[in-house]
Amino acid sequence: MLSPDSEYFTKLNDGLKPVKIVVFESYSYQLCRLTFIPLEWYLLLMREIESLINQLKKPNRIVVTTHHKPDADALGSSLGIANYLIKKGHSVQVITPSDYPEFLFWMKGNENVLVYSEESAAQVQAFVEHAEVIITLDFSVLHRINEMGEMVRNAKAFKVNIDHHLDPEDFADYRLWNTKAASTCELCYQLIVEFGDKHLIDKDIAECLYAGIMTDTGGFRHQNTTKNVHEVVAQLIDIGADNAKVAKNIYDRNSLNRLRFIGFALSEKLEILPEYHTAYFAITNDELNRFESKTGDTEGLVNYALSLDGIVLAVLFKDAGDGVKISFRSIGAFPANEIASTYFNGGGHRNAAGGKTEWTLEETVEKFKTVIKDYRPLLEKELLNLN
Ligand code: 5GP
Ligand code: MN
Repeated sequence: MLSPDSEYFTKLNDGLKPVKIVVFESYSYQLCRLTFIPLEWYLLLMREIESLINQLKKPNRIVVTTHHKPDADALGSSLGIANYLIKKGHSVQVITPSDYPEFLFWMKGNENVLVYSEESAAQVQAFVEHAEVIITLDFSVLHRINEMGEMVRNAKAFKVNIDHHLDPEDFADYRLWNTKAASTCELCYQLIVEFGDKHLIDKDIAECLYAGIMTDTGGFRHQNTTKNVHEVVAQLIDIGADNAKVAKNIYDRNSLNRLRFIGFALSEKLEILPEYHTAYFAITNDELNRFESKTGDTEGLVNYALSLDGIVLAVLFKDAGDGVKISFRSIGAFPANEIASTYFNGGGHRNAAGGKTEWTLEETVEKFKTVIKDYRPLLEKELLNLN
């Protein structure tokens, strides 16, 4: 229930109506409370969620999907929600638009995930076409699911989008969207609680959700690690999530090849642009092949560059053979996502963004070096803010 804190009532006295309606410790209630949204907006929010609740009253055929190259938040939210909905009696198919790293295979339900490929395309199409509900997680523009994007757009299903990225596309019938949330898993937890189903979150579901929150906060180190994050993971641990096991599975089950690759990259490939407080790796396809690099093997590499003292912006350029994939990481207020979206066909969060080009590795790095010239004052400012 709402607590009568003074700020809340001050706002009420300014003319906003009370929002004392929700009984659960719920996301929308917190949202109302924190942002003092007017009652009409709140009711709209509730009407939207009512539409989802109504839709889920009977058993549905549900497709759950997430973005290209799913990370722990993407797969954790997908399998967390899927396992929950299966418990509610729905029939659920999780479909990913691409493969994902082996360090996520431990999640419950992983063996039933359908991965989109040329061979499975017809099967995926059939699932999407026949779905009554499609739940899209951890992305909010349909091109992030590649060929599946148009299938989902054209599907007649009731569409749900749960996400924390900027600039969402308006394709969903119900959207739980909050850029302040550290991870989609955090939003999924709150949605299940809002449904009054906290008791259905078991150890397996809790571990899926914990994984996404842990990785999207950089192991509870990034600025997005809010009080709410700690409250949610406290609940998940209370439910039974084995947090040490999840961390071990995700961070500390390297192959020798991967570890040697990281060693090689750190000693041979790390470049510094001191005047721009920027560090980057540019990795060729041959180098990836030399270490038999698999999906996920370069994950986290860019963070080593960001861990250097005096670095504000870190970049990984990876020549995957069919173009260059770029990962940006920054500290403080430096907008990595602006560089990604303005110059490199991408986007993301302020401190973690990605993009791609169809140029060569050299051309891509040259373009980047030109682009950051304009950002020098901002890079310097962030460095000063560190101290
Ligand atoms: P990563 O560097 O781990 O691939 O991506 C970091 C973040 O950047 C992701 O969580 C995602 O939000 C965003 N991102 C990565 N690639 C793309 C892309 O191609 N387009 C958009 N819009 N965002 C991306
Ligand atoms: Mn996420």
